[in-house]
Amino acid sequence: MSKTDWIAQELDGLKQAGLYNRIRTIASPQGAWLTVDGKRALNFCSNNYLGLANHPQIVAAAVAATKTHGVGPGAVRSIAGTMDLHVELEQRLARFKGVEAAITFQSGFAANLATIPALVGKEDVIFSDRLNHASIIDGCRLSGAKIIAYEHNDPKSLEEQIKANLSQFRRGLVVTDGVFSMDGDIAPLPALYEVTKKYDVLLMVDDAHGEGVLGKGGRGIVDHFGLHGKVDVEVGTLSKAFGVVGGVVAGSSVIVEWLRQRGRPFLFSSAMTAPDAAACLAAVDLLEESTQLVDKLWENGRYFKAGMQKLGFNTGASETPITPVMLGEAPLAQQFSRDLFDEGVFAMSIGYPTVPQGKARIRVMISAAHEKADLDQGLAAFAKVGKKLGVVN
Ligand SMILES: *Cc1c(COP(=O)(O)O)cnc(C)c1O
Repeated sequence: MSKTDWIAQELDGLKQAGLYNRIRTIASPQGAWLTVDGKRALNFCSNNYLGLANHPQIVAAAVAATKTHGVGPGAVRSIAGTMDLHVELEQRLARFKGVEAAITFQSGFAANLATIPALVGKEDVIFSDRLNHASIIDGCRLSGAKIIAYEHNDPKSLEEQIKANLSQFRRGLVVTDGVFSMDGDIAPLPALYEVTKKYDVLLMVDDAHGEGVLGKGGRGIVDHFGLHGKVDVEVGTLSKAFGVVGGVVAGSSVIVEWLRQRGRPFLFSSAMTAPDAAACLAAVDLLEESTQLVDKLWENGRYFKAGMQKLGFNTGASETPITPVMLGEAPLAQQFSRDLFDEGVFAMSIGYPTVPQGKARIRVMISAAHEKADLDQGLAAFAKVGKKLGVVN
């Protein structure tokens, strides 16, 4: 017996349950088509909603910044000073989103780990949507606050929990995903806001899948619902629609200033690189110039979803271009994904613990990078595999 035998056993268990992650290798830039494990495949996996990950203007900005600023930031910003590119990016993001201030982090995950423990601690309570993203859950745990889950997208359940519990704590925070990444449904933010206003608790939304997707020209969920100035903290990511990497918190200047003083991933981990920051700035330029990419994303999403429904697939409750294809058990979803790959379509299966047991699915991520012909090819592959596996007839 070695002291790591248990790990090998756990790994075997995952393989038997159809829950083992086999990660494919990509040898091309992100886009509608990829070279995956040595083969050309239609890309239905990435969060590159607007096709910006390999956009020529963004690539050029990253190359130029590498020449003027080098690559790495040297050390954490609070110790070694911060590059002008990061400062400019934060100002531009704040203006884009119509808030007082913004602060960037290494990732959306880091933004949640920075923000939640800075706002609440042991004497406080967090009301968290039952289906919130793992980085929200981890941020909540790190804070030491009492965590109370309310039913998914249910303002009534939220209010009941607040009524029953808030008085025993110093402060309350309500936190929700904006767009739920596995189902593509949207948080009922106006109703959640009314509850937080009534009980005077902070409201935080993690808009990772709404940034660059929802709202006018991709300004996010707060813009989508016209809630400017009413949501205390808006977390976003620069790694999905923005096509680069990084996280952002947008809100009042007092909260952003506090995160610069107390956000631990800000204080104890180096910033995104200079080319990352410059690439994100170029992404803001593109989003401000035109809504064309955002419009195309939504048009593509509607087209593909309608096609799948016509074929008889269950695409769940999505209200966004995210298209879950509900299959049930994880081994079926894995088989479906392998068969799609044989048909030249790269679409990964998603099972427990990313989604609940028995709710395994293939999640198709539609992008503005896709053309109609790509979507038609994808639909044909789904039809063929779906019939073969008896999912549709
Ligand atoms: C993807 C995602 C994140 C993580 O973003 P990264 O920038 O990739 O770290 C955080 N929250 C939600 C809701 C997400 O969907």
